Amino acid sequence: MSMNQSVIQQVTTNQALQKRKTAVIARGQGNVYPVFVDYAKNSEVWDVDGNRYIDFASGIAVCNTGHSHPLIVEAVKNQVEKFSHSCVMVNPYEVAITLAEKLVELAPGESAKKAIFVSTGAEAVENCIKIARAHTKRRGVIAFNGGFHGRTNMTMALTGKIAPYKKDFGPFPAEIYHVPFPNELHGISVADSLQALNILFKVDIAAEDVAAIIVEPVQGEGGFYQAPAEFLQGLRDLCDQHGIVLIADEIQTGFARTGKMFCFEHANVEPDLITMAKGIAGGLPLSAVVGKQAIMDAPLPGGLGGTYGGSPVACAAALSVLQIIEQENLVQRSNEIGQIFAQHLEEMKLHYPGFIVDVRQIGAMLAIELVSDNDVDKPNPALTQAIIGKAAEYGLILLACGFYGNVIRFLPPLTISDETLEEGIAKFKLLFQDVIALQNIKTQ
Ligand code: PMP
Repeated sequence: MSMNQSVIQQVTTNQALQKRKTAVIARGQGNVYPVFVDYAKNSEVWDVDGNRYIDFASGIAVCNTGHSHPLIVEAVKNQVEKFSHSCVMVNPYEVAITLAEKLVELAPGESAKKAIFVSTGAEAVENCIKIARAHTKRRGVIAFNGGFHGRTNMTMALTGKIAPYKKDFGPFPAEIYHVPFPNELHGISVADSLQALNILFKVDIAAEDVAAIIVEPVQGEGGFYQAPAEFLQGLRDLCDQHGIVLIADEIQTGFARTGKMFCFEHANVEPDLITMAKGIAGGLPLSAVVGKQAIMDAPLPGGLGGTYGGSPVACAAALSVLQIIEQENLVQRSNEIGQIFAQHLEEMKLHYPGFIVDVRQIGAMLAIELVSDNDVDKPNPALTQAIIGKAAEYGLILLACGFYGNVIRFLPPLTISDETLEEGIAKFKLLFQDVIALQNIKTQ
């Protein structure tokens, strides 16, 4: 290799890195933005070209406590210096026990609980299914249309949307059933969904063969639709009646994101098992299942876990996350951020009535649903993509979601300042306005 060639290879621009990435990383692991992170601090991100972004994605609801919070950095450094791995299933360590003690206390409901640690959201979901099956000795699992539970084989099967998550990846495990998720905006009532479950019990699987029902209290990838409290209460009653394990998938909604520590608290419902990931450890790979003791203890010793589950470094980070949530009142702050943000989005809805059909806000989990002609049945994924496609130019990191790909979601770090929040919202307003103008669409 000549000197010139090696110099060229060292150039780290967004463009150069995207080229290198495309050459060596399969397209299946795509990236929303051709923007390569150099460093990030709290709610701001800088790319390798020196551009600054306001982060309204938080790495998909992971950095609720902001990027590189000093407490987390310190805890991680200290832990790595002591030791970084021994495997919790070989020689356990205190930091995991302390974290489990805190999580069983924080999980919604009064029942005595236990925890296990794994590494990813999908793994937490997989383990819930294993635990529920071991406890009930039943086979069936029910999930909801539009739900998202992960990309492993079992969690793909549970996910209620084909493209891109399941396309070409079958066969899937047997005994997975889907029913409609209540969605008032789209004409599905709580009664409709509960009725669909009762029909399923008559048509496809008897209730006494069902091990578990898994539900997101707010559908995340599905479009930020909140399950009404009476629905979660209805599911609780149904599960109690038939001895079915109720699993709360709180992977996207947990750790103060929705203005409660966990979203099920809004409905005052205690799930049997709860998945925790994303916001749990400020970006270090950690997930947990927390649930009622008798259910959690059903699998045999060695039946759960894995090499990296409960990494001491990730557990140390998670303890700092809990400390930050408490010290910085992030549950309350989540509501404040959500209210400020929602006010602006409601104004935008009034200003663009043909395009923004709905504004949703649960704590600092916000979304707008984009349509044509103010018609909820005319989803507008093209407009959504046009906005996401231009967000980086306006210094914003934004994500889409939704069953029809027509929802823009906002997940700012809960540590964002009012100034940065307002600055980001102003950028978003400008972006929206310019995209509408660019598309030559008349505002109504
Ligand atoms: N469940 C929910 C509700 C999620 O939002 C996600 C991730 N978006 C997962 C499961 C899967 O988590 P992971 O990507 O960490 O496997």
